[in-house]
Amino acid sequence: MSAKVAVIGAGGLGSLVLGYLAGAGVGEIGVFDSGAVELSNLHRQLTYGTSDIGKLKTALVRQRLLEINGGIKVNAHEGLLTRENIKAAIERYDYIADCTDNFITRAAINRACLELKKTYVHGAVYQFEGQLAVFEPHSGPCLGCLAPGAENQENQACAEAGVMGPAAGAVASMQALEILKLILGLETLKGKFAMLDFRLSDFNVIELKKRPDCPACGSKAQLETRFAGAISLAMITPEELKTRLDSGTPPRLLDLRYGWEHDLVHIPGDAWTDFEELIKTGAGFGPEEELVLYCKGQSKSAAACRALRKKGFRKVFVLKGGIDAWAEKADKRMLRY
Ligand SMILES: [Zn+2]
Repeated sequence: MSAKVAVIGAGGLGSLVLGYLAGAGVGEIGVFDSGAVELSNLHRQLTYGTSDIGKLKTALVRQRLLEINGGIKVNAHEGLLTRENIKAAIERYDYIADCTDNFITRAAINRACLELKKTYVHGAVYQFEGQLAVFEPHSGPCLGCLAPGAENQENQACAEAGVMGPAAGAVASMQALEILKLILGLETLKGKFAMLDFRLSDFNVIELKKRPDCPACGSKAQLETRFAGAISLAMITPEELKTRLDSGTPPRLLDLRYGWEHDLVHIPGDAWTDFEELIKTGAGFGPEEELVLYCKGQSKSAAACRALRKKGFRKVFVLKGGIDAWAEKADKRMLRY
């Protein structure tokens, strides 16, 4: 295959995506990373072993890929990608795989792909949850349409947040598949966003629309100020929420999990709310109401928060870490499941 693919991040997702691309015979592969192998990486980065600890990932992975397939070209790009250098770095590639673990780099990738008219395959994993999307920002929706505050979102690296190794493996396999399908001209997730909850085996795919007011690709966006005024995906910690619920002016707390989960255990004072209805219609809540959304982890509530922000809701917050974090930090006697 003569395609050229850049893989940004050679960690939990990237190291596996890279292996599949090399195995499939993708003609030229760019490996972008700035880190060395750490012991805490090994459970999800199976390309590396204990003897690699402390060595740079880019050089190691290049060597591994050439062992998998000696007939391909692999370029190791060591160093941090920034808004300033990313365009020059990825320009030679046809497809860009986002396997990074932070939103700042992600926003830079989005912007560069928009300007260079590249296809951008986004993958992310957090604990048991994954997400996947294929963007062609110059013609369809982009990361900014999905998450206007991408640059301001909580910037929690996988090492801190924790990732289930096989969850990273599942997302990486799907991400590699999307790239190979793009190369082969097959149907892909283009214009769609997949939310994967591996704990509940609950997988949702939603259609994305290009937003005229997107801070990145919208008609009013200025190239220089893209993302600058973006609204952040506001998080509230369990401790902060507890204080607010005990105050005289508590926010409305909405449980977005399934009904049976709510029946099993829930945070006192909340109201169960249908996720689909909330993101489609606002479920009867007003745009000026202060809402705190929670789910088991936080991917469902984060998706709902984005949807409500797009509808003009200004005071929507996500309970960081969901009911799991609440049980751990605010109510240790709560039933865990
Ligand atoms: Zn956009």
